[in-house]
Amino acid sequence: MAKQSPKAQYPDVMARPTRHALLNQHVAELLKCRRCPRMKSTPVSGGAIVSDVMIIGQAPGPREPVLQRPFAHTAGKTLFRWFEEFCGMNEGVVRSKIYFAAVCRCFPGKNSSGGDRVPAPDEVRNCSSWMDDEIRILQPRLIIPVGRLAIMQFIDCADVAGDADSFPYRLDRIIGHRFRVTRAEHRFDVIPLPHPSGASPWHKIPPGKALTERALKLIACHPAVAALCGCRRRS
Ligand code: SF4
Repeated sequence: MAKQSPKAQYPDVMARPTRHALLNQHVAELLKCRRCPRMKSTPVSGGAIVSDVMIIGQAPGPREPVLQRPFAHTAGKTLFRWFEEFCGMNEGVVRSKIYFAAVCRCFPGKNSSGGDRVPAPDEVRNCSSWMDDEIRILQPRLIIPVGRLAIMQFIDCADVAGDADSFPYRLDRIIGHRFRVTRAEHRFDVIPLPHPSGASPWHKIPPGKALTERALKLIACHPAVAALCGCRRRS
């Protein structure tokens, strides 16, 4: 039998139970993935949360595979504090209302200087089909990429911020803005956030602090987020 096109497989108008069944099946398959031999853990998932909003991290750290959830440690504390402060959603609400994905779903291990290794291009490519299928199933209205590697999966940083090599220093052209992006045959809004880990102080000092707040206000005011739980908005 001929293979169905992605559009036919995941039609635009999909009943919620159908979507949930597809997502359940997707997450079950994802958890069995072993495509990348250099990864140091099995995949981490936030569960089959049917949502119009997706948060995309970079990759789990060493704690997430043990605790079996994304953003389970230091970076998560900051991320969830941001959502509580600006969207009125505590960690439990965020985890139960927003689908968590990542550029790579397994812990890449440490680099030679002791930090978490950035996933290699082949690993990013291997893992991208999982994200594409999630976009086809969920058809999100808003995607929130967190940190440089995640942002680069959606936005041509060289186009927006000039020389791609200077990207880490040109977050000011990216953070605090909303973009319209097409991926996996679907069009959606993207509002990037800086990585909330303690490794970079960018979000704590000017201009990053004000731009991060601006991005969080854009997220809080986005109709897809407001619809999740009638959350409190800050002007
Ligand atoms: S990083 Fe992604 S593609 Fe690679 S083994 Fe983990 S889940 Fe599979």
